[in-house]
Amino acid sequence: MSAADLPRIAMNDFRAAWADLGDDAHAAFARVGQSGWFVLGREVASFERALAPWFDARHAVGCASGLDALEIALRALDVAPGDKVLTTPLSAFATTLAILKCGAVPVFVDVDARGAIDLERAAAALERDPTIRFLLPVHLFGMPMDLDHLQALAARHDVRIIEDCAQSIGAAFGGRKTGSVGRCAGTSFYPTKNLGCFGDGGAFLTSDDALADRARSLRDYGQSAKYVHDRVGMNSRLDELHAAILERAMMPRLEGYLARRRAIARRYADEIVNPLLAPLTVASQAAPVWHLYPVIVEGDRDALQRHLRDAGIDSAVHYPIVIPDQRAIVEQGTATVLDPLERARLFAARELSLPIHPYMDEAAVTRVVDACNAWARP
Ligand SMILES: *Cc1c(COP(=O)(O)O)cnc(C)c1O
Repeated sequence: MSAADLPRIAMNDFRAAWADLGDDAHAAFARVGQSGWFVLGREVASFERALAPWFDARHAVGCASGLDALEIALRALDVAPGDKVLTTPLSAFATTLAILKCGAVPVFVDVDARGAIDLERAAAALERDPTIRFLLPVHLFGMPMDLDHLQALAARHDVRIIEDCAQSIGAAFGGRKTGSVGRCAGTSFYPTKNLGCFGDGGAFLTSDDALADRARSLRDYGQSAKYVHDRVGMNSRLDELHAAILERAMMPRLEGYLARRRAIARRYADEIVNPLLAPLTVASQAAPVWHLYPVIVEGDRDALQRHLRDAGIDSAVHYPIVIPDQRAIVEQGTATVLDPLERARLFAARELSLPIHPYMDEAAVTRVVDACNAWARP
């Protein structure tokens, strides 16, 4: 059988998801329709209570997107125009965009071997410039950063940490969940994320009661009570409809989804033996959730991508351009780049993500393994 006869292996399979959970989603839809209440009601409150423990947080505040959750997090912490926010050059653009939307200044240092912000470089930056008082790290690919190191950084320097957990729901380091070490965190329910919805959504997370109140106000026009506006807020509310679908159709499957991602990652780690493809190393205390499965390609990445495509396998690059090199940042002109970013640029040039999603069966995993092992340097 040639690759043309085999089903394509995509980065996600939303149709298979629908076949699995469509009935539960319909029931959630009917429940909200019958309730006659569509914005900030029982479904959002109930989903928020169910979500918070996934980040060891006391409060979750549903909002319209992951981007908004991060902007709300920064604003809840009083980030003001001109304030410097230390962050990573390698992430979804939204991480930096949240900083810019507050009028704050992104400050970049290089990444470590796993593509996350290098905490040694971050510590050096905080040492040199005490006017940097905010740090926005990303648990990239669903790989938890070293939370002990992150906490030590916050203890040593006067820096407030906002964790970007858009890719890391359920990930843990040393038994603690991502999102639990910073003052607050943000996550996303964009469809491709590990807990994805049928559109946009996100959540702010914190264990600080006062911060949670501020976030609730910020997502709802800055109201403290009906028609009482204490601050300039946003309209960034998670819909009742999405909250109901997330809690009643997606969440009951989340534990199984993460287990499936881990099982696929284990097979890739054990069975892909091509020395031209290096997986990320996993720290002994880390329990990643594998939002993506990156390999670092020695050789021509485009050729590998073509080779996989010819075998009916999709792949993707995360991320092809480091954030400070994006035109929007260059033209905006305020960003500060403290390092040459050699590792981040090398990562951008060499990373390739293999398909890893909960509806992939063993036969599909085997095809990816075989295609990876069959690739030779052209
Ligand atoms: C997806 C993502 C975001 C943005 O989330 P949206 O819901 O798409 O706004 C932010 N940071 C990271 C790391 C992401 O992967």
